[in-house]
Amino acid sequence: MLLDLLEILFPSECANCGYIGRALCDRCLDTLIYEPHTREIEDLKVCIAMYYDPDSILEKLILPFKYNHQKDIFRLFVPHMNRALQLLYFPEEILLIPVPLHKNRELERGYNQAEVLANYLGKKNGINVVNLIERVKNTEKQSLTKSRSEREKNMEDAFKIVGKVSKHGHLVLVDDIVTTGSTLLACMKVLQDAGYEKISALTLAERESFRH
Ligand SMILES: [Zn+2]
Repeated sequence: MLLDLLEILFPSECANCGYIGRALCDRCLDTLIYEPHTREIEDLKVCIAMYYDPDSILEKLILPFKYNHQKDIFRLFVPHMNRALQLLYFPEEILLIPVPLHKNRELERGYNQAEVLANYLGKKNGINVVNLIERVKNTEKQSLTKSRSEREKNMEDAFKIVGKVSKHGHLVLVDDIVTTGSTLLACMKVLQDAGYEKISALTLAERESFRH
């Protein structure tokens, strides 16, 4: 409500079309097609709110350096991510674990989008968000053109565990976009090595090329 009030007092521009009023206007928001679904990537179950079309406005929103003053845009995606999360059933308590950025990249960008999404989701649902993983290697951007073994090599030792939570809970890795899944798998591996067994993932979008 405070945010709504702030938008009335200090109207922002739509990040896509420039329409004055909201950080992302309803018309532009409606161009995104939400299709909550799940996908198994090796042993990891990932729930996903929508498909990612590089021509969509999502492309503009996820570009680094741009619009980073408008991170509350991500608040608009929370209901859709909730719907995706409900596709998985967790009898045990869940914790949201943002996929970390390397600190240099986070400094450049100003924030970690995965963490912003996780925090909005956590707040809305009363779920704790824990920064359990740190990115210790500034990996190159994962590319679809790389082979799987190249991607795995790139992600080797990229993450480490920096905290401790109960082993009884269910850990849900949160990220903005899943492309090859190698980042999520690398996070899962480091958690498994630390003795965590119940691990799933939730992302805002899945890259369109996965859609068949
Ligand atoms: Zn717009």
